Amino acid sequence: MIAITRRRALFGAAALASVYPILRSSPALAQAAAGPFSLPALPYAPEANEPSIDKMTMEIHHGRHHAAFIGNLNAAAKDFPQIAAMPMHQVLQKIGEMPEAVRGVIRNSGGGHANHAMFWTIMGGKGGEPSGDLAAAITRDLGGMEKMKTDFNAAGVRVFGSGWVFVTVDATGKLALTSRPNQDNPRMDGQMVLMGNDVWEHAYYLKYQNRRADYLTGWWNIVNWQAIETRYAAAKAGTLGI
Ligand code: MN
Repeated sequence: MIAITRRRALFGAAALASVYPILRSSPALAQAAAGPFSLPALPYAPEANEPSIDKMTMEIHHGRHHAAFIGNLNAAAKDFPQIAAMPMHQVLQKIGEMPEAVRGVIRNSGGGHANHAMFWTIMGGKGGEPSGDLAAAITRDLGGMEKMKTDFNAAGVRVFGSGWVFVTVDATGKLALTSRPNQDNPRMDGQMVLMGNDVWEHAYYLKYQNRRADYLTGWWNIVNWQAIETRYAAAKAGTLGI
């Protein structure tokens, strides 16, 4: 049984590798690949989000998971330089126009890079509530802060397997709650991300194990609303990237 399973696994890997050669590289080699993409530094110390998110989770999440996406993108850019020829949010938006052989890398690693780059910047805060235009938009479009948090947490719990829960924003400032599987990013559907939370197990399992709802609840205590207000203003000004 084990031998059959291993043969199947090897055949599967070989078949995938023939479609796209990056898959032959080990993750360590992929991470080491130099190229046009680089891992954005955390804007705070890895322990800054404790106790909501522990230091080791932050270090592994940023330094290994996000770094692997960067490595995959750099490896892909050798054969498909067009993925580095425009800002990543445009690459995601144009995924359907990209060569079929690179769409998987864009979806998984490009989406993963965008999602995590956003994620780091909207944490490191002290929770609380936003002010001004954003507070008004949350009341208008999402039923107010308490309802938004309740609905956001529920949507995060409902993601089956791995994925993200997002609040999207359009150019007029209108907000909407949504979720995506895996590393999909709303830009792939022409929507802009205001904020989002990662509900992959790697985001919380060391501290919370299977208690995703507790992670989602605790996460609000380290949200950086100033950073999200800046993203909101950028969305309305047409300057928001990933
Ligand atoms: Mn993650």
